[in-house]
Amino acid sequence: MDFKTSDRLNNLPPYLFVEIDKAKRKAIAGGKDIIDLGIGDPDEGSPKEVIDSLCKALQDPKNHHYPLDQGTSAFREKIKDWYNERFGVSLDPAKEVLALIGSKEGISHMPLAFINPGEVSLVPDPCYPPYKGGTILAGGIVHAMPLREENDFLPDLGSIKKDILKKARLLYINYPNNPTNAVCEKGFFEDVVKFAKKHNLIVAHDAAYSEVAFDGYKPGSFLKVDGAKDVGVEFHSVSKTCNMTGWRIGFVCGNEKIISGIAKVKSNIDSGVFTAIQVAGITALDIAEKHLGRMNKVYQERRDVLVDALNAMGWKTRKPKATFYVWTRIPKPHKSSIDFAAMVLDKAGIVITPGIGMGDSGEGYVRMALTVSRERMLEAVGRLKKIL
Ligand SMILES: *Cc1c(COP(=O)(O)O)cnc(C)c1O
Repeated sequence: MDFKTSDRLNNLPPYLFVEIDKAKRKAIAGGKDIIDLGIGDPDEGSPKEVIDSLCKALQDPKNHHYPLDQGTSAFREKIKDWYNERFGVSLDPAKEVLALIGSKEGISHMPLAFINPGEVSLVPDPCYPPYKGGTILAGGIVHAMPLREENDFLPDLGSIKKDILKKARLLYINYPNNPTNAVCEKGFFEDVVKFAKKHNLIVAHDAAYSEVAFDGYKPGSFLKVDGAKDVGVEFHSVSKTCNMTGWRIGFVCGNEKIISGIAKVKSNIDSGVFTAIQVAGITALDIAEKHLGRMNKVYQERRDVLVDALNAMGWKTRKPKATFYVWTRIPKPHKSSIDFAAMVLDKAGIVITPGIGMGDSGEGYVRMALTVSRERMLEAVGRLKKIL
């Protein structure tokens, strides 16, 4: 049999972390002690309160059925309250809030609702891969908006050509940003709203790292800006906020029509988030602030260990204000981020993410995740010193 795969599938780039994982597994199979600063997955387990909450919810048979597609009203009410307390944004939980099976799920399904074949998504470059993957799976075309250091890793909206804008339907943005760890001011969100209104674009703001921030900095919500709800939605996740990457729960809030478009796609594909996990999601939002008070200190300490050491060895690196990623130019004379990451894995047993894996404009950079203990970070720093 000749099983021909679809053009859609053929057009998808390989998922970066699968490739890195293969190289890592090979090194581990070869008996190496590997320090993984690659994928951004919190190293500590989920909070006890959340686990207890799930255990209890599991015992109740009424939680065992097909969930409501849009999320339980209790979970959506909780999201409304959290948004109000945290960002000063009011939401209608009946129409402006949707539960997701992790924010990645909503981010990647969204183009199915708004992109026709041949239409364009404007996507930051480098970026979290599902903005591209979701667009390609919908038959759309990805237009990369380079994030350059000299522009504080903000896209230059004014430089996007007219013929691209004519075909563009969706604009993805993400602050605090993965992988560049950049944050943005309210003024940028205001520019985005103006730009979206002018060019009839739908805005998808990915706020997965809104709660992972340091030195007292508190990232704001896109939806707080005047007019944002006319043009866009904001994606959130408790994955990074509460060490819950494996649980698969997130949410999207904002424009009613956009939310109902995503919900319609989802109702044809999945049947919602397991109700017991939504109960645990409520607990996660309840304890988020307390949990983050501790976790953000832990990440900040690791950040200081790593960045101070890199700078001390002459590898100039900025300290992130938010996210648990360090994003830095590879040291001279190295040019290719893939070759550099391969060398670091081979010689030091450390997994780092080559910038080009997250987009062409990421070339020349690497990303290191702060998701190993302080002790392992010190070990990593010692190994890097030896090989550089
Ligand atoms: C981790 C991550 C997400 C998604 O997390 P979920 O577990 O699917 O909620 C979304 N956006 C960015 C930028 C991320 O790094």
